[in-house]
Amino acid sequence: MSVRVRFAPSPTGKLHLGGARTALFNFLFARSQKGIFLLRIEDTDKERSLKEFEDDIIDSLNWLGLKWDEEIIRQSDRVDLYAKIIKLLLDKKLAYYCFCSKEELEARKQEMLTRGETPIYSGKCRHLDAKEIQDKIKRKVNYVLRLRIPEKTIVFRDFLRGEIKIDYRQIGDFVIAKNEFEPLYVLANTVDDHYQGITHIIRGEEFLHTTPKQILLYKYLEWDHPIFVHLPLVLGQDRSKLSKRHGAKSISEYRQEGYLPEAILNFIALLGWHPNVDNELMSLEEMIKSFQLEKLNKSPAIFNTSKLNFFNKHYLKLKPAEELLPLLDFKNFGKFGQEQKFYANNGCVYDLLKIYKIIDLGKERATLINDILNFVNFFFNDFDYDAQLLLWKNASLLETKSNLIFIKETLDKIKEERFDDAMELKNFLDNIIPRDKRGYFFWPLRVALSGKDFSPPPFDLMSIFGKEKTLNLISKAIDKLSSLI
Ligand code: GLU
Repeated sequence: MSVRVRFAPSPTGKLHLGGARTALFNFLFARSQKGIFLLRIEDTDKERSLKEFEDDIIDSLNWLGLKWDEEIIRQSDRVDLYAKIIKLLLDKKLAYYCFCSKEELEARKQEMLTRGETPIYSGKCRHLDAKEIQDKIKRKVNYVLRLRIPEKTIVFRDFLRGEIKIDYRQIGDFVIAKNEFEPLYVLANTVDDHYQGITHIIRGEEFLHTTPKQILLYKYLEWDHPIFVHLPLVLGQDRSKLSKRHGAKSISEYRQEGYLPEAILNFIALLGWHPNVDNELMSLEEMIKSFQLEKLNKSPAIFNTSKLNFFNKHYLKLKPAEELLPLLDFKNFGKFGQEQKFYANNGCVYDLLKIYKIIDLGKERATLINDILNFVNFFFNDFDYDAQLLLWKNASLLETKSNLIFIKETLDKIKEERFDDAMELKNFLDNIIPRDKRGYFFWPLRVALSGKDFSPPPFDLMSIFGKEKTLNLISKAIDKLSSLI
C-alpha cells in the first residue's frame, strides 16, 4: 500500500505552529515512505473561511518548504460530490431531516447540563414519515441533516493511543449537513479522505473526538477507513492550552519577526517527536531520513520560546551572508547605490564584500534576522557613548588617553591597504603591545570604534572601517577623554 497523506486546514485563521507541525509530520511521513503528501483546503464553513487565510496558509507552507504533491483540493469545489453522498445516506435512512428549532435544542441542552448529563440530541425527528417531512420542507421550516447512530459501543484504534472505546449513545444523532448542499466538516472530511485515497490521517488530538463519528460514516458508506494518528497537544509551559500569551504566533508573524524556516521546522519537529538521533539539530533532509510514526509521543508537547530562539541563533550562524542579504532591511542604515556600493548614513561607503563581512559579524550575536544589522549599527550610523566606557578595569583617563594616542600614531604609519586584513592588523598590534597590557589598549580601541561594551574584536572593526574612519573614531575618543581631564 503506498502512503497517501494530507494536510487539511480550514482557512478560518492563519497557519499556526500547531498546524505547521501537523503539515510537517504528514510531509515527513510521506517523504520517508516515498508516498504522496496532499493539501486540501477545508472551506465548508462559508462565513469563517477567508481567501486571505488560505493565502497565508499556502505562503507559509511554501516558505517552510513543505511542498505538496498534486493539485490543491478545495471543498467548496466539490459540493456535488457531497450532495451525492448526502442523498445516499438519506435514501438508505441512515441520515434524516431534523426540524427542531435552535431554541428547542438549546433548552434541552441546558436541561441536560443542569442534570449533569452530556447534552445529546433527543432523536425527536428520527421517525418522521415522508409526508411530514415534505410538508415541513414545503412550509420552509428550517432543518439540518443528522446521522442515525447505532445504540452500541465502538472500539477503534488510534495508532499512538491504541484501542479507544466510545458508546455512540453518548454522542447522539449528530449533524452532518446544514442541507443537501452544505455538508459540515465531519462529512466533507470523510468523503474527501475516501476519494483521495488517504491511507493515514495524521492530525491534532483536538480532532480525536470526531473520529468515532467519521468511523460510523465509513461504515455506513461501506468504505474502509484510514489509519488514525492523533498528534499530541502542544501546551504552554504552564501546561495550559497554547496561545499568544505563551508567545505562540502564526508562521507569517514568526517570518516577519526574523525567524528562519530551518529553525521553525526543527523546533516544531521536536514538539511530539523523539527521533533516534543524538543531535537535535536536523535539516529537513535529515528529518526525512529518521522519521518514524512509531517515534511520535502521545503525551503533550511543551512549547518553549527560548528553544526556538536557540535554533534560530544556530541556523542564522550557518547561513551564508549572501543568503541573508536579501532578507535584511537596510532602511535605517543607508542605501545601496551604483555598482552595488552601500552608502551608509554616517558617510562610509562599503562594497558588497564589506557588507557581507558586516553581516557575518552581526549574525554571530543575533537571535533574529532583524537583530543582525542592529548589532553592528555603528558601521552605518554616527554614534555617541559615555567616555567612562573607554576605561578598561582600573585604568585612568590619562592612561587610556595615552594608549589611544599611541595606537593612533602607530596605525597612522601603516599603509591603507593593510587595513583590509583583520588578521594582519591583529598580528601587527599583538607584536607591539605586551600581552598583559592588551586590555588597556584593545578595550578602549574597540569602544572607540563601536561605542558599545559588546561588539566584535577591534581588528574586525578596523578592517571594515578602513584607515581614515578608524583614525577619526580614535581621535573622537581621545577628545572625549581630554574633555574630562
Ligand atoms: N479541517 C480540519 C482543521 O481545520 C482538519 C481536520 C483533519 O485533519 O481531519 O484542522
